[in-house]
Amino acid sequence: MKPERRASERRTAPTRRDEITREEALALALDNLPIGVGLFHMDALPVFMNRRFMDMFGVPDGYLASPLTFMQAAEGGHLENWRQDPAEYFRRLTEALRQGRDYEAELGIGERVYYAHNRLIGERHLLATIVDITERVQAERRVAHLAHHDPLTDLPNRAAFAEKLAGVMEEARARGQKFAVLSADLDRFKDVNDIFGHGVGDALLREVAHRFRRSIGDNFLARLGGDEFTFISLDANQPEAAGVLARRLFASASGEVECAGHTLMVGLSIGIAIFPDDGADAATLLNNADAALYRAKSDGRGVIRSFAPQTDQRIREQRLLQQELRLAVPRGELALHYQPQSRVDGEFTGFEALLRWQHPTRGLLMPDQFIALAEENGLIVEIGEWVLREAAREAAGWARPLVVSVNLSPVQFRHGDLPALIHAILIETGLPASRLEVEITEGVLVDDFARAIAVLRRIKALGVHVAMDDFGIGYSSLSYLQAFPFDTLKIDRSFIARLGSESHTDEIVRAVIGLGRGLRLPIVAEGVETPEQLAFLAGEHCAGIQGYLIGRPRPIADYAEAVGRPHAARRRRAAG
Ligand code: C2E
Ligand code: MG
Ligand code: MG
Repeated sequence: MKPERRASERRTAPTRRDEITREEALALALDNLPIGVGLFHMDALPVFMNRRFMDMFGVPDGYLASPLTFMQAAEGGHLENWRQDPAEYFRRLTEALRQGRDYEAELGIGERVYYAHNRLIGERHLLATIVDITERVQAERRVAHLAHHDPLTDLPNRAAFAEKLAGVMEEARARGQKFAVLSADLDRFKDVNDIFGHGVGDALLREVAHRFRRSIGDNFLARLGGDEFTFISLDANQPEAAGVLARRLFASASGEVECAGHTLMVGLSIGIAIFPDDGADAATLLNNADAALYRAKSDGRGVIRSFAPQTDQRIREQRLLQQELRLAVPRGELALHYQPQSRVDGEFTGFEALLRWQHPTRGLLMPDQFIALAEENGLIVEIGEWVLREAAREAAGWARPLVVSVNLSPVQFRHGDLPALIHAILIETGLPASRLEVEITEGVLVDDFARAIAVLRRIKALGVHVAMDDFGIGYSSLSYLQAFPFDTLKIDRSFIARLGSESHTDEIVRAVIGLGRGLRLPIVAEGVETPEQLAFLAGEHCAGIQGYLIGRPRPIADYAEAVGRPHAARRRRAAG
């Protein structure tokens, strides 16, 4: 005897009768519902199942012929394709029904996810409805995935990393074990974007992510943004395991990488911090891995560095200082001190404006503590403008027509229109151009010679004086003196400091002064501290001097008499 066909097949078989019974019509209608419906007697054969129900539940062929009830079939493992144990499902279902409760559950059958709802009807009947929720569940999973993954590389993102790190840390703490955080980024990734465009940059990130993923084994990898990849080395054997992982990463992703039709040279720098030695909380650990990475980069890129408290602490402080510097201008924490310049007979000819930062907690900071930081992030452009305006405003208020000298950074030459700015400030403050001198170092000319010379010519055309500062150290190319008609040459103070102690220094200074005379280029000696130095320079007919012997850099109020603003001095003293 052939096994009986499915309940639904029987119903859909074409009938040659003209009438259709009410029951048949109802069954056909139910078959076409998008939800599964089944009515069961708890201990006997099913009363009814629509087609969707049978398809969804994977009710096997021939099922109706068997003497099993639905539950016996389930317990006997006759339902195929279930991703969970059918017996367990029916155990819970029976229990709920016994207690008079509805029972609802999510079921994974085959590739689909169903929502099943079961209700007791009367004493012994069960009404089951099933809805296919696969699409909704997938959409939810996609959203959850997106919330935890970076869309470009599909790696876990910052949120996922934070969660993972918290979990790993808790476990490590409980077991008294170590683990490591590794921060990695690609060397000169910005260049790839700039040169080849963002499309290639993105492709490179995807390729590198792929290579990393392949080489990390059981360790955790996340992309925190840009070209920053972060790893958790889960092995307790630290720092050895982190070192092994770092070397594997190098092997997988550095060197030539074929990507989007280009051959790119990829370099990698990695910083390592170990829990708990280098940080017992997430923020410290990650910061310290970053600090180590930062040092890896400054040590020449393509290297691995482990966190070193002292060095990296300093680097972090520098970065903090750099951030604080952004607020220094708006908060009015910057100030200028003025140092007199004079002829060898002591007659003041002008003042050099020197920048100071009155830091809220660190006290008075000198330029060598923050100018380089300001140049690094371009903040010097804004600060330099403030210095120019402040110095010009100050000098414009002096009764005596003394010159004010302002130092310019090479970075200021690369941004904006410096001559136009100077011109505007002169008009705004009313300072005659001939009373302003700008001091540049050779750094200005080294970067982009032609452009710098063009800018300098326009500044000089305004009537502003241009001085070459710190002459004698660095390149000291004589061709610079030929390329631009400087108004002053300032010999670096390191030469003046060695006068009288090393005979060839005397010769060098003498020669530079002679050179100035020949070029009709006044020479100013910096850092004059002793009467002997002064005597030497006077003997050589040096045009000007500057140094502690004549006067230290001080707030202008201390030089009020010299500039012809005695009232300012008195006010200042009364106020202070
Ligand atoms: P600089 O332009 O060569 O300035 C002279 C430096 O020598 C000043 O240091 C000054 O205090 C110091 N000095 C002057 N006389 C003597 C002396 O007799 N003995 C010794 N040992 N030192 C003396 P300061 O103020 O620390 O400035 C250092 C450098 O910072 C300046 O060197 C200049 O290059 C830069 N700087 C200062 N202010 C600014 C600014 O507003 N903008 C820019 N871009 N750089 C600035
Ligand atoms: Mg200077
Ligand atoms: Mg100097």
